[in-house]
Amino acid sequence: MPRLPLLTLCCATLLSLAVGCADPSNAPAPAGGASAPAAASADKEAAAIQEALAQLPEEDRKIAEAQKTCPIGKDLLGSMGVPVKVDVDGKPVFICCEGCRTALLAKAEKEKAAAAAPAEESKPTQN
Ligand SMILES: [Zn+2]
Repeated sequence: MPRLPLLTLCCATLLSLAVGCADPSNAPAPAGGASAPAAASADKEAAAIQEALAQLPEEDRKIAEAQKTCPIGKDLLGSMGVPVKVDVDGKPVFICCEGCRTALLAKAEKEKAAAAAPAEESKPTQN
């Protein structure tokens, strides 16, 4: 009986979430000549972002507007629907979609671990 590669399955799920989220921004821009339609779609996107941000409470909207982009997907907050608020060590951080939550928390954990790790090299040798 073959064993299920659970770990691989899990990683693939995370990966597909991250990729699924980042994909739209990776769409190739039309190479010149199509500036009018591009501007129109940018207008449409800006309107959609405004609409998504408008659904946040005033306080949250200010944070999201100040933050502008998702720290993980690098997408504009609101471009993928209402931004998701995540509490990172008591600090509100907005991400563009749920798919970025795992990556954001993992990143925060990593940074926390790095900050908490004793700086071995800068420690004076007193033995
Ligand atoms: Zn995202």
